[in-house]
Amino acid sequence: MELYNLPVHELHRLLVERQVSAGELTATFLERIAAVEPAVKAYLTLTREQALAGAGAVDDTTGRGEILAPLAGIPAALKDNLCTRGTRTTCASRILEHYLPPYTATVVERLEQAGMVSLGKTNMDEFAMGSSTENSGFGPTRNPWDPERVPGGSSGGSAAAVAAGEAAYALGSDTGGSIRQPAAFCGVVGLKPTYGLVSRYGLVAFASSLDQIGPLTREVRDCALVLQAIAGHDLRDSTSAHVAVPDYTAALTGEIKGMRLGVPREYFPAGMDPEVKTAVRRAVDKLEELGAILEEVSLPHTEYALPAYYLVAPAEASSNLARYDGVAYGHRAGGADNIIDMYCRTRQEGFGPEVKRRIMLGTYALSAGYHDAYYLKALKVRTLIRRDFEQVFAAYDALVTPTTPTVAFKLGEKVGDPLAMYLSDLFTIPVNMAGLPALSLPCGFSQGLPVGLQVIGRPFAEATVLQIAYAFEQATDYHLARPDLGVRGEK
Ligand code: GLN
Repeated sequence: MELYNLPVHELHRLLVERQVSAGELTATFLERIAAVEPAVKAYLTLTREQALAGAGAVDDTTGRGEILAPLAGIPAALKDNLCTRGTRTTCASRILEHYLPPYTATVVERLEQAGMVSLGKTNMDEFAMGSSTENSGFGPTRNPWDPERVPGGSSGGSAAAVAAGEAAYALGSDTGGSIRQPAAFCGVVGLKPTYGLVSRYGLVAFASSLDQIGPLTREVRDCALVLQAIAGHDLRDSTSAHVAVPDYTAALTGEIKGMRLGVPREYFPAGMDPEVKTAVRRAVDKLEELGAILEEVSLPHTEYALPAYYLVAPAEASSNLARYDGVAYGHRAGGADNIIDMYCRTRQEGFGPEVKRRIMLGTYALSAGYHDAYYLKALKVRTLIRRDFEQVFAAYDALVTPTTPTVAFKLGEKVGDPLAMYLSDLFTIPVNMAGLPALSLPCGFSQGLPVGLQVIGRPFAEATVLQIAYAFEQATDYHLARPDLGVRGEK
């Protein structure tokens, strides 16, 4: 397999054995980006010079005989809602097109300390609102498995970059599915950690009670390595949890004998793609073959998660996005007569249609007279959803479900129908509402497109989630498949 198609842990071995230098590795990824980026469009900003300089620094340390950390010298990509000091951070929005953050997100800082080589910032739905990257203010990303199809979203650029060999791993953010749904659509591994495990400092806020940052990788072991580097308490994020971070790779035993796994019946509704259903049912059989005990369970409030999310998330978004007023951040409209006119024009010009829709929904849900009927009611529903999970987790170690109801859809197919677009997060949203960790990994194909299996864990049980995912991955070979982008010398 080509270098750019290898998982992080194998690239690390090659670096340690001096079969390749970080400089050569970075050059390989930059060449790969040059070859496939015109077809995929995963990146909004490339940081070539910075990447080469970072790789040079890592090669200097190996030259001195120092031991390489697991991520040192490995080229990675960052979703463009993670603040990077001096490198523009757009959130794929016109309003932040030229925004240069004065500080760096904690997760990025931690990866830099771990020796990351940063290749650039990836495309996304504007302010992470969407499921296809079609809401990007700078054009959509394409699915490496089929350029006519979406890569998912909102971390579509990050997922596509990893799937296309344009980065060895990437960071994304997940408010209602934005790591797991694109991971499923692009055939990679994506983990949304427990709310509070990973610092949100420097993540441009969408819905602060739901947002989490997490890895997108080719293999489960890589996911454990990246999580290890970014997890843990951060003084700069008051919602970050005071929990000990375990050794995640220690959980990768391949053993799941006797584990009790629940399969929620609400996650196989009538309208879903039958081939996705079949692939997930087969994955369930595989887990049983590996010695786990699988039983059907029920999460009765599942159907209310999506409507409640579309009150809570827009409410928080309408508040978070109030700061883009043309004064402190980003774009400012010209030609205004007074300050109110300036605010209006700036927001009119700077935000795309989905962001405006969310601001209006959220403002309405929070407004006097409607607050109790909508926002407060949604918070109560959120509690019921969390309780459903708590009850099931009293008897089960984890849950397995499909990540999405369908495989990647065609570009343009759902842009005119927001509800259809929202429904692609049917199985991922309840997890955010309950603050739980969940991972998507490849479990099959339908019409040549990847299908994702979702493993949901108890709060802070990332190790268990990784353990289950790893056992499944090692017993199957879906993670070894790579898309054919029709470039010479591929595979
Ligand atoms: N697709 C969902 C939304 O549009 C979730 C997005 C996300 O997780 N950032 O809100």
